[in-house]
Amino acid sequence: MARIELSKIAHSYHPNPAEPADYALKRIHTVWKDGGAYALLGPSGCGKTTLLNIISGLVTPSRGQVLYDDRDVTPLPPEKRNIAQVFQFPVLYDTMSVYNNLAFPLRNRKMSDARIKERVLEVADSLDLTPFLNKKAAGLAADAKQKISLGRGLVRSDVAAILFDEPLTVIDPQMKWELRRKLKEIHEQLKLTFIYVTHDQTEALTFADQVAVMFEGEIVQLGSPQDLFENPEHRFVGYFIGSPGMNFLKCTIEGASAHIDGAGCIELAPEIAEKGRKADGKLEIGIRPMYLKIHTRWTKGMLKAGVKGVEDLGSYRIVTLDVAGRTLKAMLSESEAVPEGTVGVSFPRQWIRLFEDGWLIK
Ligand code: ADP
Ligand code: MG
Repeated sequence: MARIELSKIAHSYHPNPAEPADYALKRIHTVWKDGGAYALLGPSGCGKTTLLNIISGLVTPSRGQVLYDDRDVTPLPPEKRNIAQVFQFPVLYDTMSVYNNLAFPLRNRKMSDARIKERVLEVADSLDLTPFLNKKAAGLAADAKQKISLGRGLVRSDVAAILFDEPLTVIDPQMKWELRRKLKEIHEQLKLTFIYVTHDQTEALTFADQVAVMFEGEIVQLGSPQDLFENPEHRFVGYFIGSPGMNFLKCTIEGASAHIDGAGCIELAPEIAEKGRKADGKLEIGIRPMYLKIHTRWTKGMLKAGVKGVEDLGSYRIVTLDVAGRTLKAMLSESEAVPEGTVGVSFPRQWIRLFEDGWLIK
């Protein structure tokens, strides 16, 4: 088991990187605590696989260091790092039985046959692979094969960490949910550091205690699901987490209010307004759709908005609003009346966030 530290990591696949765009990873500086359940969440192409491969040693970073328990492992290959990695697609020995596939990572470790058997049966049981143990892997369906890959990753309990790179991609949706729950259970039993890469927020938020959100080669926030929801440190986190994501409106600060061109003023907390007045970057206010309040009549202190559409999603509704040419989304519960025409929109002060050049003003 290990605490994994990434110190000032940057990585480019170009032979002669010149500008920031040439870097798959721009600057990564983070610590993964021993025994934590982490998710690494971000859209396709943001650098998740590159980062995971740097942790495991499949990729050597252009700059920076990887430390396991303060020991520099940057030059070491994967086999010297004592780590397990599960990839997006099955990696196994087709001609071997399922049992032997699962036993393989244990066989070189001077473990007794009896102990190997015990561990293989445990893992097979937790992944519902017991009926297949004597079958050859070659004949099995893609999702069964991927479960064997997962089992191979989970079978050793003496690894520094287990890395998962979108491991449920080939699994059907129903079983995905089930496997995610199982992985969480297994994490609770093994108490090993798990780093789970995904582009799916539901997967990240249900699996992990701490989620690292990646955007264009950087980790823009590492926090609990609640932190990411309530205090997104970067506008990308606000936009990416939540469905629909956070609303943003460009603004200027006038006194204690945010002025939205053509729509009116919204009062801010005094200390936030003061910081906003001193900022010289591009300012935006952000508010989650569930905190936005719609009033049938506009009065002072609200923004004027037009109702453009209502989407009924069963237990709640999403209202699309036009505010001086910009779109906002509001979430209403079933019991709230659905407004029409021109309305007033207000934001409870404690839920307004102010961003400068994309970063939260705290
Ligand atoms: P993710 O896993 O988040 O989808 P990747 O780490 O695979 O992102 O990719 C990050 C960026 O690096 C992308 O722009 C991708 O095209 C590029 N990239 C990834 N692997 C290679 C490679 N082996 N050679 C060159 N460019 C690569
Ligand atoms: Mg990837």
